[in-house]
Amino acid sequence: MAVGRIIKVSGPLVVAEGMQEAKMYDVVRVSEARLIGEVIEIHGDRASIQVYEETGGIGPGEPVYLTGAPLSVELGPGLIESIYDGIQRPLNVVREQVGDRITRGVEAYALNREKKWRFVPRVKAGDKVGAGDILGTVQETTLVEHRIMVPPGIAGEVAEIFSGEATVTDTIAKIRTPDGVREVSMLQRWPVRQGRPYGEKLAPEEIMVTGQRVIDMFFPVAKGGTACIPGPFGSGKTVVQHQLAKWADAEIIVYIGCGERGNEMTDVLLEFPELKDPKSGEPLMKRTVLIANTSNMPVAAREASIYTGITIAEYFRDMGYSVALMADSTSRWAEALREMSGRLEEMPGEEGYPAYLGSRLAEFYERAGRVRCLGSDGRIGNLTAVGAVSPPGGDLSEPVTQSTLRIVKVFWSLDASLAYARHFPAINWLLSYSLYLDNIDASLRERLGNEWVEMRTEAMRILQEEAELQEIVRLVGVDALSPRERLTLETAKSVREDFLLQNAFHDVDTYCSLEKQKRMIRLILLLYHECQRALEKEAPLGKLLALPVRERIARAKYTPEDQLAAFDGIEAEIKEQVTGVTAEGGEEVA
Ligand code: ADP
Repeated sequence: MAVGRIIKVSGPLVVAEGMQEAKMYDVVRVSEARLIGEVIEIHGDRASIQVYEETGGIGPGEPVYLTGAPLSVELGPGLIESIYDGIQRPLNVVREQVGDRITRGVEAYALNREKKWRFVPRVKAGDKVGAGDILGTVQETTLVEHRIMVPPGIAGEVAEIFSGEATVTDTIAKIRTPDGVREVSMLQRWPVRQGRPYGEKLAPEEIMVTGQRVIDMFFPVAKGGTACIPGPFGSGKTVVQHQLAKWADAEIIVYIGCGERGNEMTDVLLEFPELKDPKSGEPLMKRTVLIANTSNMPVAAREASIYTGITIAEYFRDMGYSVALMADSTSRWAEALREMSGRLEEMPGEEGYPAYLGSRLAEFYERAGRVRCLGSDGRIGNLTAVGAVSPPGGDLSEPVTQSTLRIVKVFWSLDASLAYARHFPAINWLLSYSLYLDNIDASLRERLGNEWVEMRTEAMRILQEEAELQEIVRLVGVDALSPRERLTLETAKSVREDFLLQNAFHDVDTYCSLEKQKRMIRLILLLYHECQRALEKEAPLGKLLALPVRERIARAKYTPEDQLAAFDGIEAEIKEQVTGVTAEGGEEVA
């Protein structure tokens, strides 16, 4: 093994000479403590190394060992339910070895080498296979069937195929290729900074249902899409991410936590294993991989964690799954980038972030998408990426938020004032947007009728009109408004309180199907239209606003999913009660 010498140590940055054989992004082991590091810059025989462990006590003259391999992850059965750090060391295994604080230079396999998995073959000797073809399956957890694929770069004829119990390193197939027989195990390695190959990229065309009304109705993300959720402290960022992890119709969840303060991450580590998958009642971890940067790990490990996470997510996408990846938060990742850039003495860009911040973020989000996977069965997989951003002081003009907004197509703008007013989810409906409507509307129309799109447009128009009318009210008072305008204000209030407001902690309200969302918004708009007609016939607004059916609309969100027929009754009541007022006429009772 080639050896270099340390000439300088600056926090997580180590500079070594005698490194002429090193390549960019190669992993090296630093000093006799064998700290894990990655080459991030090369000048002649000098290499700058980003070290993923504390460098205290390490100094010039100590050796640096080259491994000749890039930073890679292990892919195979055993990923699900794992909790890894940023460079895929399994935290639970490490804890058993060395206790609560990870000591330096610890080595542990990311995938358990002893555990036996039941491999069920799908091909037989003589079959022709190529990269991505599924050789067989392993029931990894009660919720996930792990599909064992031919690794990229291998193609030929199956010479032998195994069936039964095997560890991840046992040979499960022998494939006769033009370069001889290749033995294939269930374990693959992949360099994290390189996207995994796929057949072809496809345009997203289907909504990723989240069961959160403000998201699905107004600002939907497509399966294979990208979204960002900037949230000042306390605005409900974590709750939204948990709701997505629980309810999004994705088969696999990859959650990357790069908390800054230690307790942020501890929350995730404590809470996640407690969460239940609502559909199956099984623990959510049975379809989740967690990447956690604990506080006692240096910032550099955060930088790697995002790549570790998305590589694992891509691997499950390649199996033909819908994968949702959540990164919380990308601001911490960007700060790690800034710190390294500063130590490398690079020319700083805005607020000290390196000039390549935008392109690094873009590279990350570009790995999301809907793809035709490698493999002859033509299966389609998708990877949806949702990044939380924590702008300091909630200032959305800062560089990380701005660079992210230039890339992602959905923006959920969490609003401190809404959170303060206890309007949750605190997603601001005037600032947020989704650029996927053109992609997904055709399939939404097919699924829910044209009505869905029309009602969405009208409800949004009402919310926007409210903002304008409120401006007038502020200037000249509510008396300046016509009854028709006051009706619009009341309807907007109903859209906000009866529809958008959603309690994540209520048994029924926590999830809302698209069908129920449609029926809820229809009630609000039906009342609106009926009242508009009544106003034309001189019915008094006061009486219309006092109709008892409004209470039923307000409570509609608590209707269980299997009792949606009850909405027919409410619709009938709306018509009946408005007709009653119109017929009665009479004095205004406002
Ligand atoms: P952040 O992660 O942005 O600091 P949290 O996600 O921890 O904020 O949310 C702060 C608090 O807001 C939560 O503890 C909860 O009480 C409340 N909250 C947030 N979202 C919801 C929601 N959808 N329904 C009910 N309460 C919510």
